[in-house]
Amino acid sequence: MEFGFTEHQEKLRKEIREFFSSELPEDYEPDTENMGKEVQAFMMQLKDKAVKKGYYVPGWPKEYGGAGYTEIDQGILDEEMGYAGVLWPDFLGLHLVGPTLMMIGTEEQKKRFIPPIARGETVCFEAFTEPEAGSDEANVQLKAVEDGDSFVLSGQKVFISGAFEPNWLFTLARTTQTVPKHRGLTLFLVPANLPGITFRPLPTMGGGRQNEIYFDEVRVSKEYLLGEINRGFYHAMMVFEFERRMTGAASRGKRQLEELIAFCKETKRDGKPLMEDPHVRDTLAGLAIQCEVQRLAGWHSTWAFAERDEIGPMPYDLSNYYAKKWAAPHAKAMTDIIGLYAQLRTGSKWVPMMGRLERMWKVTRSMHAGGTFEVIKIVLAQRGLGLPRIPAQLMTAAGEAIKKGSKSA
Ligand SMILES: Cc1cc2nc3c(=O)[nH]c(=O)nc-3n(C[C@H](O)[C@H](O)[C@H](O)COP(=O)(O)OP(=O)(O)OC[C@H]3O[C@@H](n4cnc5c(N)ncnc54)[C@H](O)[C@@H]3O)c2cc1C
Repeated sequence: MEFGFTEHQEKLRKEIREFFSSELPEDYEPDTENMGKEVQAFMMQLKDKAVKKGYYVPGWPKEYGGAGYTEIDQGILDEEMGYAGVLWPDFLGLHLVGPTLMMIGTEEQKKRFIPPIARGETVCFEAFTEPEAGSDEANVQLKAVEDGDSFVLSGQKVFISGAFEPNWLFTLARTTQTVPKHRGLTLFLVPANLPGITFRPLPTMGGGRQNEIYFDEVRVSKEYLLGEINRGFYHAMMVFEFERRMTGAASRGKRQLEELIAFCKETKRDGKPLMEDPHVRDTLAGLAIQCEVQRLAGWHSTWAFAERDEIGPMPYDLSNYYAKKWAAPHAKAMTDIIGLYAQLRTGSKWVPMMGRLERMWKVTRSMHAGGTFEVIKIVLAQRGLGLPRIPAQLMTAAGEAIKKGSKSA
């Protein structure tokens, strides 16, 4: 079995790595979640350079501004970006909105919306989650009432990620009250500056910027409706397919591990380098094995995505599973090695690894973004392994029981 890359792919990886290492300052801190205005401005400039180099949407077809890279080439770019700690301001536009438009947009929508995304001129938020619609996406209650050539939207979204000012809200709304409830939803790309939309920052423990978004009788022209009316739930399932594919997360973990290994070589405890402590060595070896498994699972997903003819249930997708399963234990194992200093934050004179581990520990307290671990296991069981669906009533009862348990805990 050959897991290697071709000569062309290795050359591409080298070029991309050189681009990021020459553009990023030595003390670049990939705290992409929690960025101030200065960092935002820097990221915008870096993004413009990447657009010029053709590293922004290279995997898109040429007609949409891409460079015609293969899925594997694109995976290499994602992996190198993860390693460098770079996340583009409009990563949701690139990974979710653009590909969705290519699949279900009208010709007019494709011409109008895709080129500005490909040129890096937009910021899109994925505004799906609501107070009563997280894992249970079909329960979306944001109301969209048809009125002439528009829909009028009223309701609330919550936990919507994004630190940059958005141009577009990629959102799901209820256009029909039906049973079953997943048959009454519609997908929209709503201009974020329409009258009646308000944003309220929702600080989370991970330090990232999430938002509550309120829609107060927001008039949205029908030209912003994506795909088929009342088929939004099915379209959203396709969006989640795009969301699950990743090679970047594992390389981010690999970088952290490399830095931790360097720390263990340099740092002495009880007169000896940490690296000579058998417990530390054992932990590092375990982490290295898991990082490599996660990396290979990411590549398996990318390969499977590249191989299939049409969007549909993935045969198997373990990359997300491992990312969710191991992020918190990895953060704990790493902080345990460092000890009390791992609690120090960026800015402290004594902070190890520029405070990355302290942030990693906090971020991994909640791994709900992009779907919870339990939901990923359900998707793997049903779509990956072909196990029978759990009856809807039982599923709801299980979800309610878990929610009740987590609230009372
Ligand atoms: C940092 C962060 C960023 C986010 N960014 C975005 C964003 O940009 N856009 C967006 O739309 N949303 C975003 N979200 C929201 C995220 O998608 C939801 O948190 C997630 O879908 C889970 O929904 P919930 O929080 O309502 O939890 P719930 O669905 O209420 O779940 C609570 C618990 O019950 C479990 N559970 C629920 N149903 C079942 C079941 N049937 N079987 C077994 N277990 C079940 C869950 O696994 C979980 O442990 C973000 C969340 C976080 C924390």
